Amino acid sequence: MSKKTGRLHFLGTGTSQGIPVVGCKCDTCSSYDPKDKRFRSSVHVVYNGIHLQIDAGPDFRTQLLRYDIAHIDAVLFTHEHQDHIAGLDDVRPIIFKTGLAMPIYAQERVINRIRKVYDYAFEEQPYPGAPRIVAHQINKKPFSIQGVEVLPIPIVHGQLPILGYRIGGMAYLTDTNLIPDESIALLKDLDVLILDALHHREHFSHFTLEQALLQAKKIGAKQTYFIHMSHHMGTHETVEKQLPKEMNLAYDGLEIKFS
Ligand SMILES: [Zn+2]
Ligand SMILES: [Zn+2]
Repeated sequence: MSKKTGRLHFLGTGTSQGIPVVGCKCDTCSSYDPKDKRFRSSVHVVYNGIHLQIDAGPDFRTQLLRYDIAHIDAVLFTHEHQDHIAGLDDVRPIIFKTGLAMPIYAQERVINRIRKVYDYAFEEQPYPGAPRIVAHQINKKPFSIQGVEVLPIPIVHGQLPILGYRIGGMAYLTDTNLIPDESIALLKDLDVLILDALHHREHFSHFTLEQALLQAKKIGAKQTYFIHMSHHMGTHETVEKQLPKEMNLAYDGLEIKFS
């Protein structure tokens, strides 16, 4: 069997407000280190030549421009919160160029939310500039996008059952404070785990860094990258020094490979 190759680009690694937070003068928000500037969290994955976008938040257009992303074959959504769906309309230039509707993949509840927010895209006769979107409802079962196998990983975000995704040796688990045991079992032999770590203080819907470190150790990926950080996490440089060598804070623009 041929070896599959994956590339992943972190387009954003911040929590819902991003960093800097509007109006905040804390050490993290005032830092000059580019690694302390965090857009809302999302990643762009290229696997066997297929371009998959996971989440598209309010910074999406700027992220596509900054990281020179010109093509997307499908968008996968983890959940319906605004910091993960607010940028979907910005796939229009890609749709206009390819002439193809953009396939999106999400759970039923998330698709219903997207249909509400982007009602103009789902009208029977949308206006000519509206995005053409084809919604694919998924559940816990593996599915395939142009030959790329995607395994949904059920996780919990406060009260909300949401999905992470595993593609090859990479798993992306954002916005979670609970990974059920059945889902841990789906995370064996990972090259790369990408995991929510909000900050240090306990939160009702996100792992703290300390909780995320324990989960990452339990899952045992070769390398773990933490995402969805708030400004209360501290500066990238300070926190990075405290982490074991197989774990890092991700930062916007970081590119990694996996098999
Ligand atoms: Zn979020
Ligand atoms: Zn701040």
